[in-house]
Amino acid sequence: MISTPLYLDYASTTPLDPKVLEAMMPYFLEEFGNASSNTHIFGERAATAVNASRQTLSEAIRSLPEEIHFTSGATEAINLALKGAFLTYGHQKPHLITVQTEHKAVLDTCGYLEEIGAEVTYLPVDSEGLINLSELETSIRTDTLLVSIMAANNETGILQDIEKIGEICKSNKVFFFTDATQAFGKIPVNVVDQHIDMLCFSAHKIYGPKGIGGLYVKKGINLTPQIHGGGHEFGLRSGTLNVPGIVGLAKATQLCHDTLEETSLHMKKIRDTFETEMEKAGKIKVNAKNAPRLSHFSNFQLLSEDADSFILRNRNKIAVAQGSACNSALIQPSHVLKAMGLDNEELKNSIRVSFGKNIKIHENFNLKELIKKP
Ligand SMILES: *Cc1c(COP(=O)(O)O)cnc(C)c1O
Repeated sequence: MISTPLYLDYASTTPLDPKVLEAMMPYFLEEFGNASSNTHIFGERAATAVNASRQTLSEAIRSLPEEIHFTSGATEAINLALKGAFLTYGHQKPHLITVQTEHKAVLDTCGYLEEIGAEVTYLPVDSEGLINLSELETSIRTDTLLVSIMAANNETGILQDIEKIGEICKSNKVFFFTDATQAFGKIPVNVVDQHIDMLCFSAHKIYGPKGIGGLYVKKGINLTPQIHGGGHEFGLRSGTLNVPGIVGLAKATQLCHDTLEETSLHMKKIRDTFETEMEKAGKIKVNAKNAPRLSHFSNFQLLSEDADSFILRNRNKIAVAQGSACNSALIQPSHVLKAMGLDNEELKNSIRVSFGKNIKIHENFNLKELIKKP
């Protein structure tokens, strides 16, 4: 008999919190109205729920409610931010700056924009995965439109200095977009203090449903819509609103923010205990150990076997990622770890473990035992 493996891949997606499901349920059933139908109570109730959710999201990042735009997730939000800005302003300012370690949603969108006339600078990172802030500043040109730098990396959890980056962008008058998909709901985000012009988030990374997320766009920035038809979401993103999804996203956001610090401390305790014990036993080497990191991430090299055989051998016992979930499908070495300077051997041995809020300390035992006995 195969028992369910221990899930340690919370950075790729999370299970729905039962409280989120509970909040969503009425909007599948009796409260099924179309939020744009303003001639009856069904539509009004749906619109009320959407407005309340928009309010929750805006409070979470300190924006205005009308600066929040719901999308199908972070990938769509990233496409809207980058393509939308380039199509409006790119003829005058065709230069974008991003980082080699960004999510594929950013890198592939930048690649597409290069095909249609953009010039993109891909900043390198140091061995801890961090960019050099003065290098960012010197890369900004008179025709630079936008800087796109993620808040937390999805393979390593490494946190860039968003506030400093925001200050640099602001003083050089370029837009600052941050992919906050991993950071949102895990650490405080404040678009005013951190000088963020655009920011994306996604529900399924924070115990919410899949297929819903959003983009904050600072008032005054004119993005070119990528989906036309009906003018929903202040004209930026047409299509009948996913009311249950939006309600679920807001509930998940609220739950995360209510317990932000205690969850983070709980995760840190589990992660640090795991890393310290395994390093002491000579079994692993932690990647970017000294960089500021989200507390539920551990990206490390196995010292006794390669990642592939470890993952295959333990498929029925634990669920972890090699490098990143997206890259695993392609069986390519992680572009993030590569940019950090790991050699081929180190890349081959690297694994990403990401803990979730419901993991108990003793459950970690399984992972440790598996690593100890190749
Ligand atoms: C998951 C993720 C995305 C994509 O989000 P979806 O909502 O699944 O489209 C983008 N960026 C980062 C950093 C992510 O972790």
